[in-house]
Amino acid sequence: MQEVFQPEDFWRAIILYGLNTATYKIALAHCLVEYGRGNTTVISLEQLARDFFLLYKERLALGRPQIAQPGRWTVMEQIVSLERNGTISYEEAIARVARDAFNDVLPRFHTVHDRPLPISFYEFDGRALRLKDTLFALFADNGHQELLDETSARWDLLEAAFTLRREHWELSNDIREMYLRNGYARTNITHLRPVLNGYQQNRCFYCGEDMAHGEIHVDHVIPRQVIQHDEVWNLVLAHRFCNLQKGDNLPDGRYLEKLIARNEHFIASNHPIKQKLIASLGATAEERRHTTLRQYEDAKRVIGVGWEGICGYRLETDPLLKKFHLLWRS
Ligand SMILES: [Zn+2]
Repeated sequence: MQEVFQPEDFWRAIILYGLNTATYKIALAHCLVEYGRGNTTVISLEQLARDFFLLYKERLALGRPQIAQPGRWTVMEQIVSLERNGTISYEEAIARVARDAFNDVLPRFHTVHDRPLPISFYEFDGRALRLKDTLFALFADNGHQELLDETSARWDLLEAAFTLRREHWELSNDIREMYLRNGYARTNITHLRPVLNGYQQNRCFYCGEDMAHGEIHVDHVIPRQVIQHDEVWNLVLAHRFCNLQKGDNLPDGRYLEKLIARNEHFIASNHPIKQKLIASLGATAEERRHTTLRQYEDAKRVIGVGWEGICGYRLETDPLLKKFHLLWRS
């Protein structure tokens, strides 16, 4: 059965799955929500620059980084700072935003993981945005407030993740705590345990050992605070001990290979969950691998790899992997 996607699904794909090495897409999304609530269909580049500048000026008052690489500043951080300390005037700042800030984000807003989405919310001709009905359909009459909330949450999260990359761990723990608390409500995922276990044969995903004794945890391989969903392709079962070792860190790439193999095993088995995996990751094994690795790479840019894995664990001797009949690429 073909899954039918709604405009809000594409919107979410842009916000959650976009390449987020900086916060531009999120800022543009904020502006678009406001435009979608109004009734102007053409937004000049200058108007966009004014709105963008205001948004960043408020945002930057919090002093958080807007780009993943430590030691770098985004164009917006530079312009806001120059205007704030009086080096350039407000009008000059707006002219610079219009000239320098949008070169990447405007043409690429509708591209997720190098693939253009089948719908768009605006067209850009180099001088103005022409807003499309899809945008007004989503946000007219203040509809879909949750999408704006998610966009704000994503912005908080990216800033927090970028901060984690530059500061000492002791300092960053507070931020980590904050955004774990503020992350939006988790769906109940305990009902997935039997399905997951069927594919893990009662073995822990991280150490490969038997899970007959003790508490078993459902874990997000790519941490939930980065990926912000509970889709089954990213969920595994693990010993409480192993899960606590991993914490909120991104695990070593070996585990991604294992996750990909596990998911292909789901697909091959014709379990009903297969359709969900195909909808999320792609129709072919190659596409699914690509999508999974891209999400891993995105997460890596944001938080880095923080966990090498269980001591002594080797993919080559993992009994479960043998069962997945993985064609191991050396
Ligand atoms: Zn374990």
